[in-house]
Amino acid sequence: MRPRLPDGGRLAVGLDIGGTKIAAGVVDAEGRVVDRVPPVPSPSDQAAILKSVSVLVEELRSRNPGIAAVGAGAAGLVEWPEGRIRTAPNTAYHDVPLRRLLRESTGLPAVVENDANAACWAEYRMGISASHMAFITVGTGVGGGLVLGGRLFRGRTGIATEIGHMIVDPHGSERCGCGTVGCLEPLASGRALGRYGTAAAAADPGGTLAALAAGSGGVTGEAVTAAARAGDPAARAQLERLGHWLGIGVATLVNLFDVGLVVVGGGVAEAGELLLAPVRASFARYVTAAAHRELPAVEPARLGPEAGWIGAALLALDHEREDPAGGE
Ligand SMILES: [Zn+2]
Repeated sequence: MRPRLPDGGRLAVGLDIGGTKIAAGVVDAEGRVVDRVPPVPSPSDQAAILKSVSVLVEELRSRNPGIAAVGAGAAGLVEWPEGRIRTAPNTAYHDVPLRRLLRESTGLPAVVENDANAACWAEYRMGISASHMAFITVGTGVGGGLVLGGRLFRGRTGIATEIGHMIVDPHGSERCGCGTVGCLEPLASGRALGRYGTAAAAADPGGTLAALAAGSGGVTGEAVTAAARAGDPAARAQLERLGHWLGIGVATLVNLFDVGLVVVGGGVAEAGELLLAPVRASFARYVTAAAHRELPAVEPARLGPEAGWIGAALLALDHEREDPAGGE
C-alpha cells in the first residue's frame, strides 16, 4: 500500500488522448497549469499510443518532481473507476485497461475518464460555480458531461452522458457515426456546420459561402464561422440552424436534470454569441414549463482546448484524496 500523500503542494500529470493528438501538462490541486508539453500526433496503433503517453509522462515528471498522480481523458466509452476503454471512435483503442497500464508504467496512482467528462470536471472546478451543471462540447462531434450535486454523473459503469447520441430527430435523414438516425451529433457538430455551409453555398452560387467553397468542393465549419463573424447572413443562418438543434438537446438535459448552468465548449463554441444566442432561443422554446422555472444560463466554456487534460489531472488529485489507497 502506498503511503498517504501530503495534502499540500501536490501536482498531477493530465493527458488528453484524442483521435488526432495527445496533449499533456501538469496542474496543481487548484487547477493551475504549472507545465505543459507541445501536443504530439496520436499514433495509429495501441502500443505506440501507450509508448507516446509514457514518454510524455516521464518528460513532465523529470521537470516536476512533485507529481503525485496521473489522469487521462480519452475519447470513447470509458468505464469508471476501472478506466477500461471499451471502444473509441477514430482511435486504435478497443478494450484497453488504460488505468492499469498507466499505473504499471508510471508507478503512480492513475485515473482514466472519458475526455468530455474530464473537460466537464475542469469547467466545474475552474469555471462558473454551479453544483448542478451540464457541459456540452461541440467540435468535430458532440459530447458532454453532467455534474449533479457537485459530483460527475457517470451512470452505472461510467459510460453515461453520451449527449451527442441523444435522439432528437429519428425521422431525419442524417445517420450518426454510431449507426443510428436521429442523434444530436450529426445535426449539431462542427462537421454538420460544414455540411450546412456546403449546401447553402450550392443554393446561392453568388454568395460568400459559395466563394469560400470554390475550388475545394465544400465549406468547413471553421469557414462558416469566419464568414458569420464577418457578417454574412447565410453563414449566420447555418449557426442558427446548429443552435436550434443544440437548444433542443439543452432543453432535454434541463427537463431531465434541472441543472442550474449549461456550459458550451469545443471548437465550434468559439463562434460565441453567434451560436449561443440561437441555442438559448431554441432552449427557451422547447424546455417544458418555461414560464414556471428559472432558465439556467447558457454560457461559453472558460478553459478552451486544454480543459480535457486539466480536468483529468484534477480528477486524479481529487480521486486520490477521496481514495488514497487507489482501489478500484
Ligand atoms: Zn449517435
